[in-house]
Amino acid sequence: MAPELSQEFDHPTFRLAVAQFDEAAHLMHLDPNLWERLKAPHRSLCVSVPIRLDNGDIKVYRGYRVQHDMSRGPTKGGIRYHPEVCLGEVAALAMWMTWKTALAGVPYGGAKGGVTVNPAMLSPAELERLTRRYIAEISPILGPDKDIPAPDIGTTPQVMAWVMDTYSQQVGYSVPGIVTGKPLAIGGSLGREEATGRGVADITLETLRQDNRSITDATVVIQGFGNVGSHTARLLHQRGARIVAVSDQQGGLYNPEGLDIPAIFAHCTQEKTPVPSLTGFGDRIFNEDLLTLPCQVLIPAAVSEQITEKNAPALSCQYLIEAANGPTTLSADAILQDRGILTVPDILANAGGVIVSYFEWVQDAQRFSWKESDIHARLHEIMTSAFQRMLARSKEKRVSMRMAALMTGIEEVAQAHQCRGLYP
Ligand code: GLU
Repeated sequence: MAPELSQEFDHPTFRLAVAQFDEAAHLMHLDPNLWERLKAPHRSLCVSVPIRLDNGDIKVYRGYRVQHDMSRGPTKGGIRYHPEVCLGEVAALAMWMTWKTALAGVPYGGAKGGVTVNPAMLSPAELERLTRRYIAEISPILGPDKDIPAPDIGTTPQVMAWVMDTYSQQVGYSVPGIVTGKPLAIGGSLGREEATGRGVADITLETLRQDNRSITDATVVIQGFGNVGSHTARLLHQRGARIVAVSDQQGGLYNPEGLDIPAIFAHCTQEKTPVPSLTGFGDRIFNEDLLTLPCQVLIPAAVSEQITEKNAPALSCQYLIEAANGPTTLSADAILQDRGILTVPDILANAGGVIVSYFEWVQDAQRFSWKESDIHARLHEIMTSAFQRMLARSKEKRVSMRMAALMTGIEEVAQAHQCRGLYP
């Protein structure tokens, strides 16, 4: 019997993360004591973040940092600035980070942070004050050997620079290893910004290869054109894929002949133009319709719970590569499995970000920078070997790739708990 759900984290995304965990724990006959322990985060902190706005008013935001499991090392995970962030969502994302890091073999536990804010509504100065105050509030539980934040939705390398500076000011010396995804000038890593997208592209190629398909014949649809979606599109286009549709929060563009990705990338990332306002590249399309477009590869790279029991029967792809965290609900997952659509789960497909974050943290500790080609090669090696192991395990155990990945991650964490025993 699965242990009860902790009410304080109750939220649809947390329920999804826990339901996936329960299914895997059940399949692998996980020790019931450990099952219960891993079902709720080890530590969670809720803070008030008061800041002075440019007009002189004071506004109070809510911030969170959740550390799900720390049995394998310091905790690791991004900081999300989004108007709908709440404790339950952050707890779900922290749990996924635990399995993701264990599966990739990087020596971390899972964490996540967030502030309930729309960063687009703040001036750069307000954003800086918000970041500094939030970090000051959660700094007792941060540290390069304790918990290391990184970017996520709504946060950037500049935000990470303020994280690094705030923490360093508090301790009185520079601590580059306190955060990853920083600018290069203060100890960031080559290849970190595109790392999640590069990992997604590596996994997409590997997925097609195991079915003897070529990327140059593939049609791809990508939901989300933020850091992850835009680099995924750019790199897959570079390798010869035909990207037929992309979108952001405001809507998308569709062109069955293939979109001019380098031009769209330049407009969206440099000039910050919303995707659907780029006329002349393709037809405008709503986000809901984009998900059901005919294509070989569908890549959700936005927020969670986009593929549900409502649209799963209408999906018209052969492969679903989850670049976002938690894009598929549990019932949709079952429908896709019945329909024979191969899903490469988030904790495998989007692990490139935290893998290169690990490389950044190692370089900071070594005070020695690696070449970009080494970073790409090491990332590729970890991503493709994890993919092959999960594929083999899913075939051998007759389970989905998601269950194979979760069981592998949970097994690593269970082993760490077993060796360490229960304190006191
Ligand atoms: N936010 C990213 C994720 O969801 C990266 C986390 C990190 O680099 O620590 O995996």
